[in-house]
Amino acid sequence: AKKENGNKVVLYNEEITKEKNYRYQVEARLRKAITNEKIEVYYQPKIDARGDVLTGVEALLRWTDEELGFVQPDVFISVAEETGLIHRLWEVAMKQACCQVRIWNGNREVPLNLAVNFSAKQFQDPAALVRQVKDFLSECQLDPTHFEVEITESTLLYNMNETIKALKELQDYGISVSIDDFGTGYSSMSYLKNLPINCLKIDRSFIQDIKENYDNAQIPEAIINLARSLRLQVIAEGVEEEYQKEFLIKNKCYQMQGYLFSKPLNRIDFEQQWLLRE
Ligand code: C2E
Ligand code: CA
Ligand code: CA
Ligand code: CA
Repeated sequence: AKKENGNKVVLYNEEITKEKNYRYQVEARLRKAITNEKIEVYYQPKIDARGDVLTGVEALLRWTDEELGFVQPDVFISVAEETGLIHRLWEVAMKQACCQVRIWNGNREVPLNLAVNFSAKQFQDPAALVRQVKDFLSECQLDPTHFEVEITESTLLYNMNETIKALKELQDYGISVSIDDFGTGYSSMSYLKNLPINCLKIDRSFIQDIKENYDNAQIPEAIINLARSLRLQVIAEGVEEEYQKEFLIKNKCYQMQGYLFSKPLNRIDFEQQWLLRE
């Protein structure tokens, strides 16, 4: 038995070493990819389910490396957060997405909103961040009221006072703030009330728990009610099934995102599938 355990430990260590090596490779290749502009923004539609109207897009980064192949966003984003590359990735997302949405909006009666994901690490220098956001928007001439920041609960807890100050400034400028993956973090209800936020984004794990008979729907229902009583907007992500959509509509949560409507798409596919046929 001892020997068996010993072997397991060795195997386990080997796994960790492999994983570490992979992350080193990802870091090295990611630096190159950023410099060589190999990172691409994909756009996932946000829908108003009253009529299935396209209201906006979330920018999501995609990277296929020549050596590593497709790298999961969760993986390269976390490597980027650990190594300080996240800010450069964010610049890639901002530059591509803001200018692209501005172009699309030039042809639209009702403009699209653009949501971009921000990492906690970026709020280490909140004043600089706010300045850069404003610079990107004015450079691309994207109206701040059509721009949305997605942060997670952990971002709010990290560097709290500074982050809140930055978010307030962004809000004063017309930008809205959403809490991503809501319900998976540690926000306490008591301080949610006083935070500079506009919208709760129900985490997709809760939406996927909703079954055909509406079993397991207590948590999304509670979040929708919480949003209502705090006068916040609410959006559901990860909507894959018609009955999940029906449940949300019954509970008056009309903003949705998920494979039921569309996967994230590259610029060309998004234009073909969502803009040209309007
Ligand atoms: P997220 O911000 O929670 O993004 C939603 C994720 O759910 C995306 O995964 C999206 O493709 C996926 N998704 C959307 N609808 C469905 C659905 O109906 N079913 C399922 N199963 N999945 C759905 P993705 O693109 O792999 O991104 C993963 C995470 O990587 C993101 O989670 C976000 O935390 C991070 N990420 C991606 N792009 C950026 C970025 O530009 N900046 C930062 N900071 N993080 C990013
Ligand atoms: Ca997000
Ligand atoms: Ca999310
Ligand atoms: Ca996430």
